Amino acid sequence: MTDDTSSDHALRGVHMLHDPRLNKGTAFTDDERERLGLRGLLPPRVLTMEDQVSRVLDTYGRKTNDLDRYVNLIGLQDRNETLFYRVLIDHIETLMPIVYTPTVGEACRQFGHIYRRPRGLYVSMRDRGRMSRLLQNWPEQQVSIIVVTDGERILGLGDLGTYGMGIPIGKLALYTTCAGIPPRECLPITLDVGTNNEELRADPLYTGLLQPRVRGAEYDEFIEEFVMTVQDIFPDALIQFEDFATTNALELLDRYRERVCCFNDDIQGTAGVTLAGLLAVNRITRGRLGDQRLLFYGAGAAATGIADLIADRMTADGLSLNEARRRIWFVDSKGLVVSSRSELAPHKRRYAHDAAFESDLTSIVRAIRPTALIGVSGQARQFSQTVVAAMADGNERPVIFALSNPTSKAECTAEEAYRWSDGRAIYASGSPFDPVTVGGRTMIPAQGNNAYVFPGVGLGVIATRARHVTDEMFAAAAQTLAGQVAEPLLDQGSLLPPFREIREVSLEIATAVAEVAFTRGLARIERPSDLREYLRAAMYQPVYDDVVR
Ligand code: NAD
Repeated sequence: MTDDTSSDHALRGVHMLHDPRLNKGTAFTDDERERLGLRGLLPPRVLTMEDQVSRVLDTYGRKTNDLDRYVNLIGLQDRNETLFYRVLIDHIETLMPIVYTPTVGEACRQFGHIYRRPRGLYVSMRDRGRMSRLLQNWPEQQVSIIVVTDGERILGLGDLGTYGMGIPIGKLALYTTCAGIPPRECLPITLDVGTNNEELRADPLYTGLLQPRVRGAEYDEFIEEFVMTVQDIFPDALIQFEDFATTNALELLDRYRERVCCFNDDIQGTAGVTLAGLLAVNRITRGRLGDQRLLFYGAGAAATGIADLIADRMTADGLSLNEARRRIWFVDSKGLVVSSRSELAPHKRRYAHDAAFESDLTSIVRAIRPTALIGVSGQARQFSQTVVAAMADGNERPVIFALSNPTSKAECTAEEAYRWSDGRAIYASGSPFDPVTVGGRTMIPAQGNNAYVFPGVGLGVIATRARHVTDEMFAAAAQTLAGQVAEPLLDQGSLLPPFREIREVSLEIATAVAEVAFTRGLARIERPSDLREYLRAAMYQPVYDDVVR
């Protein structure tokens, strides 16, 4: 990470006001206005950053719908980045659902229609064979984190082609907000290989190539050229693959995880936050991970990532990997994943066990007797009263995670899980739910948001210049995160710390991840004497630099 802004300070006058990284707007001091040729270009009164923050919140407060609130915030990011991050950091709990899910989903659906200023890089099939020059067009030389999507599986919304760009932009805003990754080191990228969304191709304002998606060898070669060009132009960058369709997501991770510094948040970040939830469950029940029996409802990228990480961690409780996998079961759209099913994809096969095939979820729960039921199916309301009752029948504290997003897709609500289990369920969801009072006791459901994990992992990886991102790093992140929940919150069934504490949580996670990097010989820097303070010092703070020296 660098903070070399010397060349920026050569900028003067109106150019300074039009550069969101340097612009302070009405907060430029009289001295700065005089020396930078800004006198007269701004109204005379000098405001403080606090004044500016109240003005931003005032305007924001007048917006009547979330998409307008999103456009308002992105407008601020385009005008004055420092102020944008000040506001975001100080109001993260309120603004997170606007800059990221669920509002970012709506923003992506209408991306061409709300388009104002370009942000990030677009690499399309037309750039094959000449990506190097394209990447060199990016104005920053020091890029630490790239979030890249091909737009095929944007949140739960499917193929949004280049409209998916809202996701890398939003994720990187969270990297800066939650873990202090300097904004100038963040690069959002959308790969345009076409779209199979015909409605989008008929949209006159669609921003991408008007062709069906390229598949097979041609797609693989395109991705290979992209990944290798990044190694060449931005050799220190961590690549985060984001919102690729399941098969591509799993294959790309397999292909690149040992070759370059990369990870997939939908797979590994989800796994990290879910493992943290289960480790916090153990703090409530005084149980062991190795004693859990898990049933995944849904057998895609998220289920695979979570199951693989948990199986690996169960071995720490003395189980062999095979024994661990035997404690994990999958249900897909057809029913229970069992060894007699011949059509199974490879990622499901390792969790296909000998048992009778069954498609009814209540019967499956009665047959398998899981301690934890984890919903990652994208299918709403599948955990019915009889399913929850069957879970509560066999367990004193049934663990029910309904992780499908958005809220409308959750397998059951927090209230349903608590009520149908007489308040005994330990519940977490993918989207936020309000606290619920059952039998006079108020329970606080946890939101298993990946933003608890990926920013801290990213900070630990880039600050140590780690060669690879390993599952052990996500396990360390999960362990750390689970340890951050205060006892009174655990007593109320909450498995994660309040999100407003995210910067401290991310720092702890980054420290744990950096420890793994040093222990495993993956770090490419000397170990600092005080790792936590080293990382803390690397975190970006949204304060106005003194431009006049
Ligand atoms: P995916 O498309 O890779 O997998 C979905 C899986 O669900 C597939 O295996 C499919 O066979 C299965 N499925 C579909 N219909 C089903 C049905 N009726 N019964 C049982 N299984 C069914 O998607 P993914 O990336 O694994 O994400 C799945 C869900 O998890 C999404 O809703 C996503 O929002 C959510 N998710 C949440 C978090 C989080 O909370 N932190 C993180 C990642 C994903």
